[in-house]
Amino acid sequence: MIKFDEVAKQVSILRAAEFCGLTVKQYRSPCPACNQGGERALQFFTDTERFKCWAYEGKMWGDSVQLVSHVKGVRQGEAAAMLVSHFSLKVDNEKAPEKPKTAPQGFDPAKYRSTLITEHELLSGIPPELCESAGIGVAPKGAHQGKVVVPLFNQAGEFLVYASVTGLTLPKNWRPK
Ligand SMILES: [Zn+2]
Repeated sequence: MIKFDEVAKQVSILRAAEFCGLTVKQYRSPCPACNQGGERALQFFTDTERFKCWAYEGKMWGDSVQLVSHVKGVRQGEAAAMLVSHFSLKVDNEKAPEKPKTAPQGFDPAKYRSTLITEHELLSGIPPELCESAGIGVAPKGAHQGKVVVPLFNQAGEFLVYASVTGLTLPKNWRPK
């Protein structure tokens, strides 16, 4: 993944305009994407390195990556990649995708789970075996005090957070394995 803002930082708005083949006069140029608004549809701000398209419905603001994206009608990722290759930019694109957010540090789900009340009127209809194996219960204290809580996991099966729920029900015919 290329970081768009890192790319944008390395290409000034006017260089990006030039890359798009725009003829800039007095910080203005036509917008070939909107194809209206005349010679001054696009405005470039060299102090903030941003552009504004006055022709675009609802106006459009952005940095150099967004300019290329707008003018060439490509996604920002493509626009960033175009700039990187055209200007031979060095950007940190080796970064692994950000780790999914896991539980706040110091929170021990196993410990929390061991404090849960598994026999409670709020859990009627939920087999105790399921509470036991899934880690469902009623929180005796804390933010979810007195509520039914269930642990949530990401797709990799890593624990994310304990969420409180109301009206937890199961399919009628469901039985624990
Ligand atoms: Zn435009």
